Amino acid sequence: MYPSLRANPDRAAWIDTTAKTLGELGDRHRTTLDDASRALEFPREVYRELGRLGYLGPLVPTEFGGSGWGVAEYVVISEEVGRHGLVSGQIAVQGQKWLVDWGTAEQKAQWLGPIASGEKVFSESISEPTMGSSFKNMKATATRDGNDWILNGHKTHVNLGADSDVTIFYGLTPDGITSFLVDTSLPGVSTQVTDPIGLRLIRTADVLFDNVRVPDAARIGSVGGGLETFLSTFNISRLGNASELIGLGRRALEIAINYGNTRIVGTDHVTDFQGIQWMMADAWTSLQAASLARDHAALAHERGEDIALATTVAKRLAISAAEDAVDTAFSMTGGEGLYHESPLLEISNDLRVLKVAGGSQEIMRNYIARRILKSSDHEGLA
Ligand SMILES: Cc1cc2nc3c(=O)[nH]c(=O)nc-3n(C[C@H](O)[C@H](O)[C@H](O)COP(=O)(O)OP(=O)(O)OC[C@H]3O[C@@H](n4cnc5c(N)ncnc54)[C@H](O)[C@@H]3O)c2cc1C
Repeated sequence: MYPSLRANPDRAAWIDTTAKTLGELGDRHRTTLDDASRALEFPREVYRELGRLGYLGPLVPTEFGGSGWGVAEYVVISEEVGRHGLVSGQIAVQGQKWLVDWGTAEQKAQWLGPIASGEKVFSESISEPTMGSSFKNMKATATRDGNDWILNGHKTHVNLGADSDVTIFYGLTPDGITSFLVDTSLPGVSTQVTDPIGLRLIRTADVLFDNVRVPDAARIGSVGGGLETFLSTFNISRLGNASELIGLGRRALEIAINYGNTRIVGTDHVTDFQGIQWMMADAWTSLQAASLARDHAALAHERGEDIALATTVAKRLAISAAEDAVDTAFSMTGGEGLYHESPLLEISNDLRVLKVAGGSQEIMRNYIARRILKSSDHEGLA
């Protein structure tokens, strides 16, 4: 798809190459990936291969060993990862965004290259058992002790929490929420793998911080600047979420079309029925709308514009589009799609997770509503 990103011929060629490479990677490792998903294991070798090909470090400048691409390339990679059922590099990209925007020279030198190559795995320890959508109930703390900080807290739902070498920890200080890069091999860090229904290739864990001592040099951003560091990353990561959702939707519809074009019901193929054709038309239209919104946001970012609203709209549309696509695919494949061997359940479960993680659908709508109601021209309505 990529309706607007393809307007640039060089980029269109890059999209084709990337889609082909990631498609072949998905095909080559299909069994490994399916086994890992079932067994709830992180497919580290496939992840590293993505790193070697440059797809884990799109936002890392080349001088740090990254690909030196940009947000437009990041969204293409994310869509193709969703489309080909690959292990997601979303969390690595979020990590590099934090580091590029807020990291010190030492932090960048230490972590950016290894995160981009896949040799070191990044995770984000933000959510807590009593705190997800809003920072208001955060209980984790960071307490100053001379030139060090002592971190305490229980973080939950952390993708790759038990597999990561470095995690970003958000905790309360007297001056507000502050973030730290924490080496997970430090004394006091422990993890417990949990069992999510979706995105199982980047399995979740609880991450516990029990009097973890880090130097002030581990702080990322200013003391009390946690919200700022969080938002600068999440505006971009919403586009990655939106793109993976579009990729999942495309995968679901491709499965449905391949089945519907060959399955004969009575004297017709499934795709001969007008009722089915209309479902397909609506699902494709939703995916196209989401792709246009996502491309618009990525290009607006390249122009240096504020993209908070555009990325939120893109994720909101991508959730609905992926849901339409998955519903359509389940309808078109009949009983065939309703077995565990069918990839549709995994696609549907990944979609469920992406609908919540990284900002839920409700939070997207809250933000869009706030922007419309508070802006003087009601975001173009007036
Ligand atoms: C598989 C998975 C992976 C995840 N990965 C990570 C990770 O790597 N790191 C990390 O830190 N976190 C991660 N999360 C946590 C995720 O970001 C939170 O689950 C999400 O922010 C929602 O928070 P919550 O689960 O506490 O729900 P709650 O905040 O308790 O919300 C419950 C419901 O109420 C709705 N709601 C909340 N506030 C409002 C409101 N103001 N208006 C309307 N509706 C509202 C929510 O949308 C939701 O439907 C992950 C979650 C999952 C399930």
